[in-house]
Formats: sequence, C-alpha cells, structure tokens
Amino acid sequence: MFPAEPRFPPSICLRVTRRCNAACSFCQAPNTDRSTLTLGEMDVIGAVLESRDLSTIKLSGGEPTTRSDLPRIVTAFGLRGIKPVVITNGFRIDAPVFGALRAVDGELKFSVHRPGPDNDLVLRVSSFPRILANMEAARALRVPFSINAVVAPGDADRMKEMAAFAVEQGARKISFVPVVPRGRARARPEFEFDAPGVADVRDRVVELAADLEPYIVVRCIDIRKHDYWVIENDGSLWIERSRDEDDVLIMEKNQLMALGGRIRR
Ligand code: SF4
Repeated sequence: MFPAEPRFPPSICLRVTRRCNAACSFCQAPNTDRSTLTLGEMDVIGAVLESRDLSTIKLSGGEPTTRSDLPRIVTAFGLRGIKPVVITNGFRIDAPVFGALRAVDGELKFSVHRPGPDNDLVLRVSSFPRILANMEAARALRVPFSINAVVAPGDADRMKEMAAFAVEQGARKISFVPVVPRGRARARPEFEFDAPGVADVRDRVVELAADLEPYIVVRCIDIRKHDYWVIENDGSLWIERSRDEDDVLIMEKNQLMALGGRIRR
C-alpha cells in the first residue's frame, strides 16, 4: 500500500494504446511495452477518477482511434461526468467516435503541425485531406475541437500561419507545444531547444493570443513548466516531466485498481 493518497489534478491523460498509424520523428510517448487496459479496467479507473472529481480525461496514445472500442471508452468516462477529449492525429476517425463524443459533450484535439499537405511529412503518412474531412465532420456534427501543434527549433515562423489555419477550420483553441527531449525526440540534436528558443515560442504565443482573442484561444503547453499526469497503457500512474528520466511513478496499476475496489464495496 502506498503511504499517502495523491491529490489528483483536474485533468489526466490516459494512454489507451501504444499503437499508432503514424511515425512522427518527435513522438513524445515513452517507450513502454505494448500492453493495453481493457474496457473493464478503464471503467474501474473511471470510478477512481470520478471519486477524485476529475473533470477531463485526455484519451491519447499512441493513436487512440486504432482501438475499435474507442466509442465505448468515450461513453464510459462521459457517463461518469468526466469530459473525454480524444487526442488524435485526425486521419482515421470512425463515425461512432463522433457519435459517442457528441452524446456526452466530449471533444477532439487534432495533433496537426503544419497548415497544409506537408503535415504528411511530419506524420510520415499520406493523410492531410482526411484530416480536413474529419475537421469538417466535427463541425457538421457539432463536436468541438482544438488543435495541438508541436513546435521544433526553427518552426517558430510557422506559428502565425498555424494559428490562422486553426481559426479558418473553426477550432476553439490552438495549443503550441515546444518539443521536449522525450521519447523519440530524445538525444536528437534537431529537437534540442535552447532557452531563448523556448522563450521566443512563448512570446509569440502571447502575441498571437492577444491578436486572435476574438476568434480563438491560443496557448502554450510547455511540459518544462507543468507536471503532466498520465496513466500509461500498462495502467501505472505517472507524473511526466520534460525528460523521461525525471518522470515520477505515483502508483502501479494494481494500486490504482485497488482504489477502485474500495469505492465499489
Ligand atoms: S506523435 Fe502522435 S501521431 Fe505521431 S507517432 Fe506519436 S502517437 Fe503517433
């Protein structure tokens, strides 16, 4: 038994799979094994998070749309009053996913890093027209969506164009994410930001947020500054930081499941 109950934040990320249908060279997901939680296990986790007043669960991966039971996962959290946000590369979203999100007021977050077909060069898969079609479907089905754009050194000049793209597509928010040396980006010089580089991204976000305030929310998600709580695909709960070696294990899967067992008795 762990010595003290952690205080859960209002929002946690859950990696529903490590599988992905793209191959971004900066992928920040840790190199964990390929195990996955079952729907039943996720429901127990949902009970734990509901009892800790979680407001939002970010369903990520890997690529969550590779799970055929994603609509049921969305519904399971949504029915507990926890808003599901599916973080996706956006090119394979089946109709039932839109339906499930609509039914529980969930949202989509598209990870798009270029405002045009050269986004395919980042994902390393032909996909941009399908991403646009899925944004159109989200608008038509009234599923709100936002955009996450990873910014690598040298990308800052594209941020204005990315923000304009997000406005044009009807996103309610765009978050710029300066890359950190985690996962595949680790030890790759092209993804090493110096402090002035990160400061420049932050300054540009402030400027864009002010300019576009009537149209869209613009923000910076800098994992160097914030702890990021993640339930890994193997069910362990972590605080992730900007380097894999600084991550902190909060509890193993069996401890998380035991919390759920106590709720149900
Ligand atoms: S960043 Fe996202 S879309 Fe790209 S390889 Fe990693 S999980 Fe897949």
